[in-house]
Amino acid sequence: MIHCKCFTIILSLCCLFGFAQQEDSVMIKKIADEILSNGRAYEDLRLLCKTVGGRLAGSPQMYKAESWGQKTLQNAGADKVWLQQCQVPRWTRGGKDEAHISDQSKKQSLDILSLGNSNGTGLKGIMAPVIVINSFEELEQRKSEVPGKIVFYNYKFNPLFVKTFHSYSDAVKYRGAGASRAAKYGAVAALIRSMTHAADNNPHTGAMNYNDSFPKIPAAAVGLKDSDMLIDILAKNKTAQVFIKTNARMIGDTTGHNVIGEIRGSEFPDEIITIGGHLDSWDTAEGAHDDGAGCVQSIEVLRVFKGIGYKPKRTIRIVLFANEENGLRGGTKYAEEAKAKNEKHYFALESDAGGFTPRGFGFNLAADRLQRIKQWLPLFVPYGVYEFNAGGGGADIAPLSSTLGTPVAGLQPDSQRYFDIHHARSDVFEAVNKRELELGAVNMAALIYMVDKYGL
Ligand SMILES: [Zn+2]
Repeated sequence: MIHCKCFTIILSLCCLFGFAQQEDSVMIKKIADEILSNGRAYEDLRLLCKTVGGRLAGSPQMYKAESWGQKTLQNAGADKVWLQQCQVPRWTRGGKDEAHISDQSKKQSLDILSLGNSNGTGLKGIMAPVIVINSFEELEQRKSEVPGKIVFYNYKFNPLFVKTFHSYSDAVKYRGAGASRAAKYGAVAALIRSMTHAADNNPHTGAMNYNDSFPKIPAAAVGLKDSDMLIDILAKNKTAQVFIKTNARMIGDTTGHNVIGEIRGSEFPDEIITIGGHLDSWDTAEGAHDDGAGCVQSIEVLRVFKGIGYKPKRTIRIVLFANEENGLRGGTKYAEEAKAKNEKHYFALESDAGGFTPRGFGFNLAADRLQRIKQWLPLFVPYGVYEFNAGGGGADIAPLSSTLGTPVAGLQPDSQRYFDIHHARSDVFEAVNKRELELGAVNMAALIYMVDKYGL
């Protein structure tokens, strides 16, 4: 039998919790109604994509994007907007990438894109036989066959992972380290099968890094159709040669900026909640999903709080990070300065997984605290979020987590279509659905409201 007094306490706690849930569900509905009827995120994204376009770190478009960010944050109602300076690398593609395969008398063109940070081939290009390598283990076994050849990494994006980010983590090492590992054994260039399930032939670029111990050979991505064609031709004719001409080069560092806007907290102004995405994108597309979507959703969180008159207890700071794609200098600088200024970073949330239908959030947070906030989930279900998962965050806020121990989280949208467009020419505004984008912002704002109100 429960003791009478205990029972009363439990009952009143339940009532209190029930009341809080009801009050919160009313507030979250208010947030959702405002975003779904008066949302600015989609129009903000259109302006970023269509008036700025691709905005790689160090490019003239990077500065245009920074101005767009300042203006958009001001229009959203930020109390204060400023730029945080950081040095960013400046890599340029230097013109159109060209490639073809010569099979006896026939020439078939190949659609390739230089990988970010890669060197180019030089004006004459490179013509060489190709060795198809399916894994790093195979590269080790066949290293004596590599000298003088182009290594083509044909590692497939694994279809058995249901969440495509797992396929990406599994395959991305070939893009990142493949060129240097091939150069170690005398390869003259590296081609990489694109990391995608897409049915089209777009090559998917992305950052690579050189190991300074080996020659810095050029590296480029190939779309899936051309990858399969290459394999077919080489299976029939091992002497077929591939020609590549790329013009890329690293120019050196230049000055870039994180664009920051905030609403000052009413009770705990020194406790900062950071919400962000990265402002840079690859040069060959509009960077709509990656990560224009994350930027406009983050700005929308600030705008909706202003729009419905919600005054957060803690300082809400929106950060559009510089140079995530090929250096992470913006995220690194933000955490360095936070540490130097002894700022209290209470929580950080990133959206950098595309503007698709939200499904959940992933948290990098102590297990007991995650368990506690899972009680909030019923409030999110009406807006399509069903999961609070252990593990998550974002590349730009990872330095906050590692240097200051800040709890971080990432929005987890449906991942099935993300790698169709990721780092490809097809990542354009038209690929983003207004409702899906807005629902992501609704859930982000709801999460920030709950964290600000109840703490973690
Ligand atoms: Zn991204």
